Amino acid sequence: MKKRTGMFCLLLVVLLVGVAAAQSQLAPITAIKAGRLIDPETGTAATNQVILIEGEKIKAVGPNLAIPAGAVVIDLSKLTVLPGLVDAHTHMAITYKEQPENNYYYLTYIMESTPLRAIQAASNGIQLLNSGFTVVRDVGNNALYADAALRQAIEQGWLPGPTVIPSGPMIGSTGGQFWPTPEMYKYHNIMFPEYIDANSPDEIVRAIRENMLFGARTIKLCIDCKPWGYSVEDIKLAISEAAKGGCMVEGHVQTTDGAQRAIDAGIHMIAHGNALTPEQHQQMAAKGIFLNGTDTPFMPYRGNEGAFKRTVANLRDAWEKKVPLTFSTDLDYWNERMKNEKTGEWLTRGDLTIAFLETWKAAGIPPVDILRAMTINGYNAADIIKERGPIKPGFYADLIAVAGDPLTDIDALRNVQFVMKNGMVFKKDGVMTPEKFFHPGPVRTPSGRWTR
Ligand SMILES: [Zn+2]
Repeated sequence: MKKRTGMFCLLLVVLLVGVAAAQSQLAPITAIKAGRLIDPETGTAATNQVILIEGEKIKAVGPNLAIPAGAVVIDLSKLTVLPGLVDAHTHMAITYKEQPENNYYYLTYIMESTPLRAIQAASNGIQLLNSGFTVVRDVGNNALYADAALRQAIEQGWLPGPTVIPSGPMIGSTGGQFWPTPEMYKYHNIMFPEYIDANSPDEIVRAIRENMLFGARTIKLCIDCKPWGYSVEDIKLAISEAAKGGCMVEGHVQTTDGAQRAIDAGIHMIAHGNALTPEQHQQMAAKGIFLNGTDTPFMPYRGNEGAFKRTVANLRDAWEKKVPLTFSTDLDYWNERMKNEKTGEWLTRGDLTIAFLETWKAAGIPPVDILRAMTINGYNAADIIKERGPIKPGFYADLIAVAGDPLTDIDALRNVQFVMKNGMVFKKDGVMTPEKFFHPGPVRTPSGRWTR
């Protein structure tokens, strides 16, 4: 009996080795010739690099690598290659409009179903990838887990899109960001799924567990959406519960008091920079709390000069105080003025996102620091830096290429010529080539089945 078991094990090992060998033979090798390769961590660029990619991951990077016979060679020798970009705070599955809802998203939520909003999110994801955003933190207002479904669909290989870090519904105390009528609140449960009401320690724990069960990879708390927002103890509880499911916590903050409670609790990220004081910037820097400032530019289609000046001053101060900054937009709106002024063509969701560079430039932040916010800090805030982001061996091959040099001219990022996601070419010579991303079934099922 023992002998038989031994033979069986040996056979199994031989089989497994054979399967592994066959798989590695099947994994296509791609060699990218990069004219310049930026490392945003150091803020430097190396010239004439070769990036070898096996399947979905980077195998080797260097100046004189031998390119294996049969490798697909992609010549980006006239371009600058860099890691994919991160929008660390956006909302792909809600789009409130001037018509019919007068920008009042309470009505969007009433009028647009979760399936419709999920399809909008899928489109937005493709548009963001086209502009070089390979990672997106999608933090709330996504109907009934449309964000988690999009992550799943992209991960399974149904369609192209960025790596989505979904939060599920935002968790808040009574009312969330809404001011519903008594009848809608009490008899029609109007808060859910746009928000989860959680008013006690037990309810906070349950809400976080539910979000993680249904696909959240990060937790979003409404710290002070109402005067009866969360206490330091509430926030600490949320942080420890979220950690059990491997999630960091972002706090939506709109008052200075709320910001202070979030900082005192040691929250990982604060969303929206407007209520923060210079002293609080100092505290955030000392504690390493990320600022997802959502720094809206003043554009023909959005914003006003006064608000923009305040946003720029706040961003500048946060940068001077060395707060870890991410590039974040809070984009969740659309109007008919969102067109290219010269051509009259619609701006894509990617165009609207990269336009937030205007605020960073107005704040006088050097390109190298903007680039770090858009990459390294974004990967850290998304908590994926161990597997995605850096163009180094062992990491997923997510990378983009642009003409020009973003280290001296950050606007070079506005014209992304090449996008690779998970080792597959999504865009080449400035044109989307997404065919290989579409499948009639779940061709990628990590671990054999999809959990969270
Ligand atoms: Zn937001």
